[in-house]
Amino acid sequence: MLRNLLRSMLLISLLLSACGGASGLGSHKLKVVATFSVLGDLAAIVGGDEIQLTTLAGPGVDSHTFSPTAADTAAVADADIVFENGLQFEPWLDALYTSSGSKAARVVVSKGITPLTVEDNSQTVTDPHIWHDVTYAVQAVRAIRDELVSADAKNATAYKSNAGVFIARLQELDTWVYVQVNKLPEDRRKLVTTHDSFGYLAKRYGFQIIGTVLPTSTEGASPSAQQVAALVEAVKAAGVPAIFGENVTNNSLLQQVADEAGVKAVTTLYTDALGPAGSGGETYEKMMRSNVLTIVAALLK
Ligand SMILES: [Zn+2]
Repeated sequence: MLRNLLRSMLLISLLLSACGGASGLGSHKLKVVATFSVLGDLAAIVGGDEIQLTTLAGPGVDSHTFSPTAADTAAVADADIVFENGLQFEPWLDALYTSSGSKAARVVVSKGITPLTVEDNSQTVTDPHIWHDVTYAVQAVRAIRDELVSADAKNATAYKSNAGVFIARLQELDTWVYVQVNKLPEDRRKLVTTHDSFGYLAKRYGFQIIGTVLPTSTEGASPSAQQVAALVEAVKAAGVPAIFGENVTNNSLLQQVADEAGVKAVTTLYTDALGPAGSGGETYEKMMRSNVLTIVAALLK
């Protein structure tokens, strides 16, 4: 009787220690944080059911000016991996990571990309908006896959399979964007946006950036009256029928520029964040398709 009881207790303690596991994971899911909604979508697709994902700056939220909450601090503190865009897109992340005391691996998905630069109030700064070039989204997916495989080898097959299917779809998407843009006469491939979010899209798919309403790469500054007047003249000179506002910006100045230049303001682009569920921009692929269809239709008129 006593011997049976001791044997049961030994079995229970063995089971309990197995749950603690040498890998540190045991039967628990890998805890993954993505800094913003686009990256969250890529991580969700590659990680599938095998990860527990928290996205910090959610749909419609501007990462340039994001303020983390106590819940965000807790998620980072608890995470095994943090996926970040890098290139100063998350200016709040270093402080959040440090204050959380996190031991998570930080993975910068833009690593290895040669970044574009933009003029930010007469200073040259790095352009972080890499995901508008689909080939860079593919690169981000590969970085996510490689990190998940190395951190959680028992689910490596699932991560590789999820990433493989997704990358094939993204390569089709990249080709599709070219086909759509080719419907535009070359002299119509010109963009004016609220902030400078489309440098990578322009470079990859052959648009010219005429100008932006805001003089900085973040949404923190206002243009002078002369800057607004100069942009109105640039829009007139470019001969474009429409200019574009974004889901993460206040588009009232863009509307003013459009009115003064006598063109249409189209304010339905998803730039630095996905849209909410049901918006038609709630995944990375939907966001890209929606943006490209919107731009091509508006510039063809
Ligand atoms: Zn931005």
